[in-house]
Amino acid sequence: MISLANMKNLKPGDFPPEIKGLRMTRQRREVLAVILRDRDHPTANDVFLRAQKRMPTISLATIYNCLEALVTHNIVRQVNLERESSRYCPNLSDHCHFQDEKSGKIHDVVFKKGVKLEDILELPKGTEVSHLEISLKGIFGK
Ligand SMILES: [Zn+2]
Repeated sequence: MISLANMKNLKPGDFPPEIKGLRMTRQRREVLAVILRDRDHPTANDVFLRAQKRMPTISLATIYNCLEALVTHNIVRQVNLERESSRYCPNLSDHCHFQDEKSGKIHDVVFKKGVKLEDILELPKGTEVSHLEISLKGIFGK
């Protein structure tokens, strides 16, 4: 299994022919490469504009199809922040999103080491969390 977490500056040709059971077509490779390149949580439209640079004939509909396939196969994560277009994140480990109100940038924020959700939230016994989506807004420090 390849780890996408450590991959940066990937070119579409660097991907294996299949990831998590999803056949990596040329378009899917390009879309995934775009998401891994800047790791800035692009929207579908951002991905479209960046992918077009290398693949001028790619359509927005194809971008949406690729994104859906990548999300369904757990290769990238779809992030929904309030009243905004969905964004896409290649970081699959548990993390929260912090939107900086000044720059508009979205930062990945992780839990402190050893802290689990059960430590900070009142969850009934036997609860199993299958999906984590926590978003914060404010001024991001340095
Ligand atoms: Zn993220």
